[in-house]
Amino acid sequence: MWFLYRPDAANVWKNEEIRKRYKRYRGILDGTNIPRYLITKKISANFSFDDSIKELWKIHDKAAKKFNETIKKIDKEEISFEDLEVPGLSFLDLKEHIAHEILKDCHFCERRCKVNRAEGKLGYCRLGKESIVSSAFLHTGEESVLVPSGTIFFAGCTFTCVFCQNHDISQEWCNEFREKITGGILVTPKKVALLAERLRKEGAKNINLVGGDPTPNIHTIISALKEFNEKITILWNSNTYQSLEATKLLLELMDFWLPDFKFWDNQFAKEMSGINQYREIITRNLKMAYDEGSGELLIRHLIMPGRVEEDTYPILEWCSKEIPKAIVNLMDQYHPEYLVLSKHDKYRSINRRIYPEEWNKATKKADELSIFWKPVS
Ligand code: SF4
Repeated sequence: MWFLYRPDAANVWKNEEIRKRYKRYRGILDGTNIPRYLITKKISANFSFDDSIKELWKIHDKAAKKFNETIKKIDKEEISFEDLEVPGLSFLDLKEHIAHEILKDCHFCERRCKVNRAEGKLGYCRLGKESIVSSAFLHTGEESVLVPSGTIFFAGCTFTCVFCQNHDISQEWCNEFREKITGGILVTPKKVALLAERLRKEGAKNINLVGGDPTPNIHTIISALKEFNEKITILWNSNTYQSLEATKLLLELMDFWLPDFKFWDNQFAKEMSGINQYREIITRNLKMAYDEGSGELLIRHLIMPGRVEEDTYPILEWCSKEIPKAIVNLMDQYHPEYLVLSKHDKYRSINRRIYPEEWNKATKKADELSIFWKPVS
Protein backbone atom coordinates (compact mmCIF):
# COMPACT_ATOMS: atom_id res chain seq x y z
CA MET A 1 0.00 0.00 0.00
CA TRP A 2 3.06 2.25 0.17
CA PHE A 3 2.43 3.48 -3.39
CA LEU A 4 -0.80 5.18 -2.23
CA TYR A 5 1.15 7.76 -0.25
CA ARG A 6 4.30 7.75 -2.40
CA PRO A 7 2.94 8.01 -5.98
CA ASP A 8 6.17 9.87 -6.81
CA ALA A 9 8.03 6.56 -6.43
CA ALA A 10 6.37 5.27 -9.61
CA ASN A 11 6.21 8.61 -11.43
CA VAL A 12 9.89 9.38 -10.96
CA TRP A 13 10.81 6.62 -13.43
CA LYS A 14 8.95 8.46 -16.19
CA ASN A 15 11.79 10.98 -16.06
CA GLU A 16 14.23 10.18 -18.89
CA GLU A 17 17.19 11.67 -17.05
CA ILE A 18 16.56 9.44 -14.02
CA ARG A 19 16.37 6.37 -16.26
CA LYS A 20 19.60 7.37 -17.95
CA ARG A 21 21.58 8.17 -14.81
CA TYR A 22 20.37 5.08 -12.92
CA LYS A 23 20.44 2.74 -15.90
CA ARG A 24 21.90 -0.26 -14.13
CA TYR A 25 19.79 0.16 -11.00
CA ARG A 26 16.71 0.27 -13.26
CA GLY A 27 18.03 -2.78 -15.10
CA ILE A 28 18.34 -4.75 -11.85
CA LEU A 29 14.76 -3.76 -10.96
CA ASP A 30 13.63 -4.95 -14.40
CA GLY A 31 15.65 -8.17 -14.22
CA THR A 32 17.88 -7.24 -17.16
CA ASN A 33 21.04 -6.50 -15.15
CA ILE A 34 22.86 -8.57 -12.56
CA PRO A 35 23.82 -7.07 -9.16
CA ARG A 36 27.55 -6.58 -8.85
CA TYR A 37 28.03 -8.74 -5.74
CA LEU A 38 26.68 -11.79 -7.59
CA ILE A 39 29.27 -11.29 -10.32
CA THR A 40 32.09 -11.24 -7.73
CA LYS A 41 31.04 -14.79 -6.81
CA LYS A 42 31.93 -15.91 -10.34
CA ILE A 43 35.34 -14.22 -10.61
CA SER A 44 38.17 -16.45 -9.50
CA ALA A 45 40.80 -15.18 -7.06
CA ASN A 46 43.84 -17.32 -6.69
CA PHE A 47 44.90 -16.55 -3.12
CA SER A 48 46.07 -18.46 -0.09
CA PHE A 49 44.97 -17.77 3.49
CA ASP A 50 48.70 -17.50 4.33
CA ASP A 51 49.35 -14.69 1.84
CA SER A 52 50.55 -11.36 3.21
CA ILE A 53 48.12 -8.46 3.09
CA LYS A 54 50.29 -6.85 0.41
CA GLU A 55 50.00 -9.96 -1.75
CA LEU A 56 46.25 -10.16 -1.11
CA TRP A 57 45.76 -6.59 -2.38
CA LYS A 58 47.75 -7.40 -5.52
CA ILE A 59 45.45 -10.34 -6.20
CA HIS A 60 42.47 -8.14 -5.38
CA ASP A 61 43.54 -5.54 -7.99
CA LYS A 62 43.91 -8.23 -10.63
CA ALA A 63 40.49 -9.68 -9.78
CA ALA A 64 38.97 -6.18 -9.90
CA LYS A 65 40.29 -5.77 -13.44
CA LYS A 66 38.78 -9.11 -14.44
CA PHE A 67 35.51 -8.13 -12.74
CA ASN A 68 35.30 -4.90 -14.77
CA GLU A 69 35.92 -6.73 -18.04
CA THR A 70 33.33 -9.37 -17.15
CA ILE A 71 30.56 -7.00 -16.07
CA LYS A 72 30.92 -5.07 -19.34
CA LYS A 73 30.55 -8.27 -21.34
CA ILE A 74 27.56 -9.39 -19.28
CA ASP A 75 25.85 -6.01 -19.71
CA LYS A 76 26.46 -6.10 -23.47
CA GLU A 77 25.11 -9.68 -23.52
CA GLU A 78 28.37 -10.94 -24.99
CA ILE A 79 28.49 -13.56 -22.25
CA SER A 80 25.85 -14.99 -19.97
CA PHE A 81 26.11 -14.63 -16.20
CA GLU A 82 24.33 -17.95 -15.73
CA ASP A 83 26.92 -19.77 -17.87
CA LEU A 84 29.88 -18.55 -15.79
CA GLU A 85 31.26 -21.23 -13.51
CA VAL A 86 31.59 -20.79 -9.75
CA PRO A 87 35.34 -20.88 -8.96
CA GLY A 88 36.94 -22.68 -6.02
CA LEU A 89 37.91 -19.37 -4.45
CA SER A 90 36.09 -16.30 -5.64
CA PHE A 91 36.68 -12.54 -5.63
CA LEU A 92 34.03 -12.35 -2.89
CA ASP A 93 35.94 -14.94 -0.81
CA LEU A 94 39.03 -12.78 -1.18
CA LYS A 95 37.17 -9.64 -0.12
CA GLU A 96 35.83 -11.47 2.92
CA HIS A 97 39.32 -12.63 3.88
CA ILE A 98 40.80 -9.14 3.50
CA ALA A 99 37.93 -7.63 5.54
CA HIS A 100 38.69 -10.03 8.40
CA GLU A 101 42.39 -9.12 8.19
CA ILE A 102 41.48 -5.42 8.40
CA LEU A 103 39.32 -6.17 11.46
CA LYS A 104 42.43 -7.39 13.31
CA ASP A 105 44.03 -3.96 12.88
CA CYS A 106 40.90 -1.98 12.30
CA HIS A 107 41.05 0.58 9.55
CA PHE A 108 37.59 0.27 8.09
CA CYS A 109 37.29 4.02 8.46
CA GLU A 110 39.84 6.81 8.26
CA ARG A 111 40.06 7.08 12.04
CA ARG A 112 42.37 4.08 11.66
CA CYS A 113 42.12 3.02 15.31
CA LYS A 114 44.34 -0.01 14.54
CA VAL A 115 42.78 -2.09 17.34
CA ASN A 116 42.25 -5.82 17.10
CA ARG A 117 38.48 -5.97 16.94
CA ALA A 118 38.65 -9.68 16.07
CA GLU A 119 39.83 -10.16 19.68
CA GLY A 120 37.09 -7.93 21.01
CA LYS A 121 39.14 -4.72 21.37
CA LEU A 122 37.10 -1.57 20.78
CA GLY A 123 37.95 1.49 18.74
CA TYR A 124 36.28 4.90 18.49
CA CYS A 125 33.02 3.39 17.18
CA ARG A 126 32.92 1.10 20.27
CA LEU A 127 32.18 -1.95 18.15
CA GLY A 128 34.07 -5.18 18.55
CA LYS A 129 33.80 -8.21 16.30
CA GLU A 130 30.02 -8.54 16.45
CA SER A 131 27.54 -6.40 14.59
CA ILE A 132 24.28 -5.16 16.08
CA VAL A 133 21.19 -4.50 14.00
CA SER A 134 18.80 -2.08 15.66
CA SER A 135 16.01 -2.51 13.10
CA ALA A 136 15.29 -3.77 9.58
CA PHE A 137 12.16 -2.76 7.70
CA LEU A 138 10.68 -1.55 4.42
CA HIS A 139 11.45 2.17 4.49
CA THR A 140 8.94 4.31 2.60
CA GLY A 141 10.43 7.65 3.58
CA GLU A 142 13.59 7.49 1.46
CA GLU A 143 14.03 9.27 -1.89
CA SER A 144 11.42 8.50 -4.57
CA VAL A 145 13.77 6.31 -6.64
CA LEU A 146 14.48 4.08 -3.66
CA VAL A 147 11.16 3.30 -1.98
CA PRO A 148 10.22 0.90 -0.65
CA SER A 149 13.77 0.38 0.51
CA GLY A 150 14.81 -2.74 2.44
CA THR A 151 16.70 -0.89 5.14
CA ILE A 152 19.00 -2.55 7.65
CA PHE A 153 20.09 -0.22 10.47
CA PHE A 154 23.38 -1.14 12.13
CA ALA A 155 24.12 0.31 15.58
CA GLY A 156 27.28 2.36 16.08
CA CYS A 157 28.94 5.10 14.05
CA THR A 158 32.35 6.45 13.15
CA PHE A 159 31.12 10.05 13.67
CA THR A 160 29.86 11.83 16.75
CA CYS A 161 27.63 14.50 15.21
CA VAL A 162 26.27 16.94 17.78
CA PHE A 163 23.02 17.26 15.79
CA CYS A 164 22.54 13.54 15.06
CA GLN A 165 18.91 12.63 14.47
CA ASN A 166 19.65 8.93 15.05
CA HIS A 167 21.76 9.44 18.19
CA ASP A 168 19.98 6.57 19.94
CA ILE A 169 21.45 4.02 17.52
CA SER A 170 24.62 5.84 16.46
CA GLN A 171 26.02 7.09 19.76
CA GLU A 172 23.78 6.05 22.63
CA TRP A 173 23.35 2.37 21.82
CA CYS A 174 25.79 1.47 24.58
CA ASN A 175 26.51 3.06 27.95
CA GLU A 176 29.79 4.48 29.26
CA PHE A 177 30.92 0.94 30.16
CA ARG A 178 30.26 -0.05 26.56
CA GLU A 179 27.37 -2.30 27.49
CA LYS A 180 24.62 -2.43 24.89
CA ILE A 181 21.57 -0.51 26.09
CA THR A 182 19.31 -0.25 23.02
CA GLY A 183 16.97 -2.94 21.75
CA GLY A 184 19.24 -3.99 18.88
CA ILE A 185 20.18 -7.60 18.34
CA LEU A 186 23.59 -9.18 17.82
CA VAL A 187 23.64 -10.59 14.30
CA THR A 188 25.62 -13.20 12.46
CA PRO A 189 26.20 -12.78 8.71
CA LYS A 190 23.59 -15.51 8.16
CA LYS A 191 21.06 -13.51 10.15
CA VAL A 192 21.78 -10.38 8.06
CA ALA A 193 21.28 -12.44 4.89
CA LEU A 194 17.96 -13.75 6.24
CA LEU A 195 16.84 -10.21 7.06
CA ALA A 196 17.71 -9.15 3.51
CA GLU A 197 15.79 -12.12 2.09
CA ARG A 198 12.75 -11.23 4.17
CA LEU A 199 12.88 -7.60 2.96
CA ARG A 200 13.21 -8.76 -0.63
CA LYS A 201 10.11 -10.96 -0.23
CA GLU A 202 8.20 -8.03 1.28
CA GLY A 203 8.86 -6.00 -1.88
CA ALA A 204 12.08 -4.07 -1.26
CA LYS A 205 13.60 -2.43 -4.33
CA ASN A 206 17.05 -2.51 -2.79
CA ILE A 207 18.94 -3.63 0.29
CA ASN A 208 19.88 -0.41 2.03
CA LEU A 209 22.86 -0.76 4.41
CA VAL A 210 22.83 2.08 6.92
CA GLY A 211 23.20 2.92 10.62
CA GLY A 212 24.55 4.70 12.65
CA ASP A 213 26.96 3.85 9.92
CA PRO A 214 27.52 0.55 8.13
CA THR A 215 31.31 1.03 7.82
CA PRO A 216 32.43 -0.76 11.03
CA ASN A 217 30.34 -3.75 9.88
CA ILE A 218 31.97 -4.34 6.49
CA HIS A 219 33.27 -7.78 7.56
CA THR A 220 29.73 -8.87 8.56
CA ILE A 221 28.19 -7.39 5.42
CA ILE A 222 30.63 -9.13 3.05
CA SER A 223 30.13 -12.46 4.82
CA ALA A 224 26.36 -11.90 4.62
CA LEU A 225 26.60 -11.34 0.85
CA LYS A 226 28.19 -14.78 0.58
CA GLU A 227 25.01 -16.23 2.11
CA PHE A 228 22.68 -14.12 -0.04
CA ASN A 229 21.78 -14.80 -3.67
CA GLU A 230 18.88 -12.53 -4.56
CA LYS A 231 18.95 -10.40 -7.70
CA ILE A 232 18.48 -7.08 -5.94
CA THR A 233 20.43 -3.82 -5.76
CA ILE A 234 22.85 -3.51 -2.86
CA LEU A 235 23.00 0.08 -1.62
CA TRP A 236 25.65 1.78 0.54
CA ASN A 237 24.04 4.48 2.70
CA SER A 238 26.88 5.99 4.68
CA ASN A 239 28.73 9.03 5.98
CA THR A 240 31.37 7.94 3.38
CA TYR A 241 34.29 8.22 5.80
CA GLN A 242 35.41 4.68 5.04
CA SER A 243 39.13 4.09 4.51
CA LEU A 244 40.74 3.77 1.11
CA GLU A 245 41.00 -0.01 1.66
CA ALA A 246 37.35 -0.30 2.68
CA THR A 247 36.29 1.71 -0.36
CA LYS A 248 38.24 -0.71 -2.56
CA LEU A 249 36.40 -3.63 -0.97
CA LEU A 250 33.05 -1.97 -1.63
CA LEU A 251 33.62 -0.83 -5.22
CA GLU A 252 32.68 -4.13 -6.87
CA LEU A 253 29.90 -4.91 -4.37
CA MET A 254 27.74 -1.80 -4.28
CA ASP A 255 25.30 -1.10 -7.09
CA PHE A 256 24.10 2.17 -5.67
CA TRP A 257 25.77 4.78 -3.47
CA LEU A 258 23.76 7.02 -1.16
CA PRO A 259 26.45 9.09 0.55
CA ASP A 260 26.13 12.09 2.85
CA PHE A 261 28.14 15.13 1.86
CA LYS A 262 27.62 17.51 4.75
CA PHE A 263 30.58 19.83 5.09
CA TRP A 264 33.19 21.56 3.01
CA ASP A 265 34.91 23.39 5.86
CA ASN A 266 37.08 20.87 7.74
CA GLN A 267 37.16 22.94 10.92
CA PHE A 268 33.35 23.00 11.05
CA ALA A 269 33.30 19.23 10.37
CA LYS A 270 35.65 18.72 13.31
CA GLU A 271 33.45 20.81 15.61
CA MET A 272 30.20 19.22 14.48
CA SER A 273 31.17 15.58 13.91
CA GLY A 274 34.54 15.13 15.63
CA ILE A 275 36.42 14.15 12.48
CA ASN A 276 39.59 15.17 10.67
CA GLN A 277 40.18 15.78 6.98
CA TYR A 278 36.50 15.36 6.16
CA ARG A 279 36.62 17.09 2.77
CA GLU A 280 39.67 15.23 1.42
CA ILE A 281 38.36 11.82 2.46
CA ILE A 282 34.78 12.29 1.30
CA THR A 283 35.78 13.70 -2.09
CA ARG A 284 38.29 10.87 -2.61
CA ASN A 285 35.68 8.20 -1.83
CA LEU A 286 33.00 9.83 -3.97
CA LYS A 287 35.38 10.08 -6.91
CA MET A 288 36.28 6.41 -6.54
CA ALA A 289 32.62 5.34 -6.42
CA TYR A 290 31.91 7.51 -9.47
CA ASP A 291 34.93 6.61 -11.62
CA GLU A 292 35.76 3.06 -10.53
CA GLY A 293 32.52 1.80 -8.99
CA SER A 294 29.00 1.62 -10.34
CA GLY A 295 28.94 5.40 -10.87
CA GLU A 296 25.29 5.52 -9.77
CA LEU A 297 25.20 7.99 -6.89
CA LEU A 298 22.59 9.98 -5.04
CA ILE A 299 24.35 12.57 -2.88
CA ARG A 300 22.55 13.76 0.25
CA HIS A 301 23.41 17.30 1.19
CA LEU A 302 21.82 18.57 4.41
CA ILE A 303 21.72 22.36 4.24
CA MET A 304 22.86 23.69 7.62
CA PRO A 305 21.84 27.01 9.20
CA GLY A 306 24.20 29.81 8.29
CA ARG A 307 26.38 27.52 6.17
CA VAL A 308 25.14 27.99 2.60
CA GLU A 309 28.12 29.96 1.39
CA GLU A 310 30.72 28.09 3.46
CA ASP A 311 29.56 24.55 2.72
CA THR A 312 26.62 24.25 0.30
CA TYR A 313 28.12 26.37 -2.50
CA PRO A 314 31.54 24.69 -2.68
CA ILE A 315 29.98 21.22 -2.32
CA LEU A 316 27.65 21.88 -5.26
CA GLU A 317 30.51 23.33 -7.28
CA TRP A 318 32.65 20.27 -6.61
CA CYS A 319 29.82 17.88 -7.51
CA SER A 320 29.05 19.65 -10.77
CA LYS A 321 32.70 19.54 -11.79
CA GLU A 322 33.91 16.17 -10.50
CA ILE A 323 30.84 13.90 -10.46
CA PRO A 324 28.49 15.64 -12.90
CA LYS A 325 26.15 12.69 -13.46
CA ALA A 326 25.47 12.21 -9.76
CA ILE A 327 22.03 13.33 -8.61
CA VAL A 328 21.89 15.53 -5.50
CA ASN A 329 19.19 15.52 -2.85
CA LEU A 330 19.13 19.02 -1.38
CA MET A 331 17.75 18.49 2.10
CA ASP A 332 15.94 21.24 3.98
CA GLN A 333 14.95 19.16 7.00
CA TYR A 334 17.76 20.10 9.38
CA HIS A 335 16.37 20.75 12.85
CA PRO A 336 18.09 21.11 16.22
CA GLU A 337 18.53 17.73 17.88
CA TYR A 338 20.60 15.94 20.49
CA LEU A 339 23.51 18.07 21.90
CA VAL A 340 22.40 21.13 19.95
CA LEU A 341 19.30 21.07 22.16
CA SER A 342 20.89 20.06 25.45
CA LYS A 343 23.90 22.41 25.06
CA HIS A 344 22.10 25.15 23.19
CA ASP A 345 24.46 27.91 24.29
CA LYS A 346 27.45 26.09 22.83
CA TYR A 347 25.69 25.35 19.53
CA ARG A 348 23.67 28.54 19.26
CA SER A 349 24.61 29.14 15.60
CA ILE A 350 22.91 25.92 14.45
CA ASN A 351 20.06 25.93 16.98
CA ARG A 352 17.41 26.74 14.38
CA ARG A 353 15.96 25.45 11.14
CA ILE A 354 17.21 26.92 7.86
CA TYR A 355 15.53 30.10 6.64
CA PRO A 356 13.51 30.07 3.37
CA GLU A 357 16.09 32.42 1.83
CA GLU A 358 18.87 29.89 2.59
CA TRP A 359 16.91 27.22 0.76
CA ASN A 360 16.33 29.63 -2.15
CA LYS A 361 20.03 30.46 -2.36
CA ALA A 362 21.00 26.77 -2.33
CA THR A 363 18.52 25.75 -5.04
CA LYS A 364 19.41 28.79 -7.18
CA LYS A 365 23.07 27.78 -7.02
CA ALA A 366 22.23 24.19 -7.92
CA ASP A 367 20.27 25.41 -10.95
CA GLU A 368 23.08 27.73 -12.04
CA LEU A 369 25.45 24.75 -11.94
CA SER A 370 22.95 22.53 -13.84
CA ILE A 371 22.82 20.09 -10.96
CA PHE A 372 19.99 17.58 -11.26
CA TRP A 373 18.18 17.69 -7.90
CA LYS A 374 14.44 18.34 -8.17
CA PRO A 375 12.99 14.82 -8.68
CA VAL A 376 14.74 13.47 -5.59
CA SER A 377 14.68 16.43 -3.17
S1 SF4 B 1 35.57 1.28 12.17
FE1 SF4 B 1 36.73 3.18 12.35
S2 SF4 B 1 36.18 3.97 14.38
FE2 SF4 B 1 35.62 1.80 14.37
S3 SF4 B 1 37.43 0.75 15.21
FE3 SF4 B 1 37.59 0.72 12.98
S4 SF4 B 1 38.86 2.48 12.46
FE4 SF4 B 1 38.08 2.79 14.57
